[in-house]
This record gives sequence, structure tokens and C-alpha cells, in this order.
Amino acid sequence: MGDHAVELLKVLFPYLSRVTVDGVVRVGASVRIAARCVAATARCPGCGTVSVRVHSRYGRRLADTAVGGQETAIDLEVRRFFCDSTDCAKKTFAEQVDQLSFRYGRRTVSLQHLLRHVALALGGQAGKRLAERLATPVSGPTLLRLIRSMDLPEVPELTVLGVDEFAFRRGRRFGTILIDMNSHRPVDVLPDHTADTFANWLRRHPHIGTICRDRGGAFAEGAERGQPGIPQIADRWHLLHNLATGLEKAVTRHRSCLKAPEPEATPGPASTSAGESAYERKIRERHHNVQTLFLQGSPSTRSAHGSGSTAKRYGATRGLPPPSR
Ligand SMILES: [Zn+2]
Repeated sequence: MGDHAVELLKVLFPYLSRVTVDGVVRVGASVRIAARCVAATARCPGCGTVSVRVHSRYGRRLADTAVGGQETAIDLEVRRFFCDSTDCAKKTFAEQVDQLSFRYGRRTVSLQHLLRHVALALGGQAGKRLAERLATPVSGPTLLRLIRSMDLPEVPELTVLGVDEFAFRRGRRFGTILIDMNSHRPVDVLPDHTADTFANWLRRHPHIGTICRDRGGAFAEGAERGQPGIPQIADRWHLLHNLATGLEKAVTRHRSCLKAPEPEATPGPASTSAGESAYERKIRERHHNVQTLFLQGSPSTRSAHGSGSTAKRYGATRGLPPPSR
């Protein structure tokens, strides 16, 4: 093999530098790499003792990331070593190759890593379809197991807790989501959105100093019951949401104060004023159409313009008189 070919293998398969490759064959549409472990010693995973005494050898097949779009597997011969420490519960142990294999794993470390990211991004079924395209076939349930087997991230001590409703199924079933307001990351999801459930959770987390929540209701009650006297503040989103709702109501209430439009010099949708943009022209035309249909008493006012809200926005409802023209 030329120097460049050796270099290529080292660059493309860094994790094979710790084993000896005995052969590469194509089986059907897939690539099989035969390799064996050659390190002189292995470290017992139980007690850390280094052993040189080989007990036995056996083969493992590790699915790997695709090579050139082809499904790839490594047939790896590994050894079982004796643990010579008298204090260790393990009499023998299997060696693992750093960056390549892990205990009970049927994939290489890099494929495990890749599939876990696929699972996190897409979940089971969509992840399975992408994995097939990547020539690393895997079942949907296996992808979900990869997510569940991940270590949960360390949750730093919570000081300010955000609480809000969380829809398991939109409009149907709600739970509660709890957020660390310092990191803006979710820390827990509760199965319902009752005051009791939230209060119980708070009692188990007494170090929280402040609650950030919506403006009243079950979470206010739950916070007071779980940690009486805890400072509670309204979060920005709910304040802005309430403000927007209030503003909309006020504007609607004063709609009759709005001046009726000036009669147009040349009536009809085709008329344009100087400087009118395409968007403004479109609005004017739509207004004209809605009004025309409404004045004709057309039952299709709703369907002709997509939605009732469009007609309503232009005042074409039974409750409001059409603007004088
Ligand atoms: Zn040991």
C-alpha cells in the first residue's frame, strides 16, 4: 500500500488506529472490515488493574457509519482477560477499544453518537427514515431507546422558577412545564396543571426563591400552598399577552368612533391614488369586493374570501352597519 493510501486510512478511520485491519470485503451492498485488537494489555473495568493474561477470544460485529454511502460493519476480534486482583468481583473481563467499542454495544462509538443525534432531532419514525438514507439502518424503537439511555444533564440549583401550562395535546390535555429562568431551560414536566401537583413539587424543592408565572389561577394558589410567602412575579410574556388582549378589546369598543372613509372620486376597485403601494391596492380591492357581496346579501361572503374573520375585519357582519360610501 502506498504512503498516501495509508495516510488516507489514518485520516478517515482514526478509531481503527488502535486495531489491526486484516481485510476489507464487500458483502452484497455492504462493506465489512475485519479487525482485531492488538494492545498488549487491558484494564479491568471493575477495579482498574492492568492485565496481560488472555482468557479467550471471540468475535463481535459493530455496525459503523457508512463509507462512501455503503452500509459498513467492523468484524472485530476481541479478547477476554483474567483479572488478577484478588479483591475484584470480576474473574474475567472483555477488552474495549477506545473510541471504537463500548460494553454490550453493537455499534461503533461514532455510529452510536450519530444515531443519538438523529433521534434527538427527529424522534423514532422520521429518524428511522433518515438513518436508512444514511446507510445506517436502525429501528424507530431503538432510536427512542438511545434517547432514554442518555444521562440527564446536571440541573444547577434553581433560584428563579418559571411555571406555565404545557400542552401534551393541544387544546385537550395539559400539564405543567417548569423552567429554570436563569438558563431558560426546562427542568421538569408535571402530569397535570392543578395547584396541588405544583404545590407538591415545590415542597420537594425548598431552595427556590422566586416564582415567575402567569397572572393568577392554579399556579398562584399552588405556589402559595407549596411555599407560603414566596415572592411571585408575573412573567413578561403574560404581561405583554394581557396588554395586547386589553388593547384589542379597547380598540374594538371604540370602533364606532372611527371616521367613515371619504367617498372616492372614482368608485371601484380599479381606482388608485397616487403613491398607493401594491399591498394597499390589494386591501382596497378586497374591501370593495367584500362590501359589494355583503350589500348584495350574498351568502358566499364567508367562502368567497376565505374566512369569516376577513369579512368581519371589513365590517361586513350583521352586527355592524357597513361603512357609508
Ligand atoms: Zn478487576
